[in-house]
Amino acid sequence: MLIPNRYSVILDRDKTINEDPGYLNDPAKVKLMPHAAKGISLLNKFGVRVFVASNQSGIARGLITTTQLGTVNNRITELLAKENAHVGGFFICPHADEDNCDCRKPKSGLIKQIINKEKIDPFKTFLVGDRARDIECGKEFSMRGILVGPDEVNLSPNTVFRAAHLEEAATYILEAIFDETTNTKIFLNAEDFFPQLEELKSTQKKIVFTNGCFDLLHSGHAQLLSYARTLGDYLVLGLNSDRSVRALKGKTRPLNNALDRARLLAQLPYVDAVVVFDEDTPIELLKKIAPDIQVKGGDYIKEELPEYKVMRTMGKEIVIVPFRKGYSTTNIIERMRL
Ligand SMILES: [Zn+2]
Repeated sequence: MLIPNRYSVILDRDKTINEDPGYLNDPAKVKLMPHAAKGISLLNKFGVRVFVASNQSGIARGLITTTQLGTVNNRITELLAKENAHVGGFFICPHADEDNCDCRKPKSGLIKQIINKEKIDPFKTFLVGDRARDIECGKEFSMRGILVGPDEVNLSPNTVFRAAHLEEAATYILEAIFDETTNTKIFLNAEDFFPQLEELKSTQKKIVFTNGCFDLLHSGHAQLLSYARTLGDYLVLGLNSDRSVRALKGKTRPLNNALDRARLLAQLPYVDAVVVFDEDTPIELLKKIAPDIQVKGGDYIKEELPEYKVMRTMGKEIVIVPFRKGYSTTNIIERMRL
């Protein structure tokens, strides 16, 4: 699964991207903050769009002219470009508190401007700044914020992380995007999957189900899952919870927890949903999902399977797919011990 590139980040300017000597009006005084260019360039590489939203009350106070503001912003752009970092635009509030404008952060005017002009998706936008107001300004759009630097003592409720600098913030954002795009296939409780299941059933799609621990993913698993998917239109993988893996395989297992196992499985193009279940057998889950086909990997005789009766009663089919010989998590662990 590739990361979609419709994510955006809105950065504060002073003390987030560049150092702040106070009412910065001289391009010769522009200095980037440590790790700022690296952080922006990292976001650029993976297609995340980057914008700047900045309060510049120095303009209202007559300490910065709009021309000076322009030359400073150009200098920032130039210094970033030297390190392969690019921002998509500067959105500026030139007002002071007493002007009572709607764009001075923590008010949301600048964010609205970016949403309207750049057509960003608020649910896929992160805010980064050194002050609580840099994050609070996106609160009404449910944007998540990352505070950088040690200075701020107040936290806006939509703050999700504190980072030392912009590069650390960018790393966090890339992880969050990965989790979010992957998690669309992951259901840690069966109940969370049912709305999607209802929808599927209404489309007459042929649902295939298989289950297992998938503790250390190997090519035997990949073969089984890809064949399973071939039998229908949608593959639901019932994944044993950590508790049920321990019950089945002993207390030293699983090696990877359920979320990590699910994250990996969700990357396979032929797995449509990973549903974690806590029972020792998948019978309860099978009853709820009532798939058209259940796939078992191995050399089972289907009439001897505990789920055979359930599937037969529901008028559904069980297909046994042979396992690739010599491949099992247990074998891999044995080999590692030698
Ligand atoms: Zn304003």
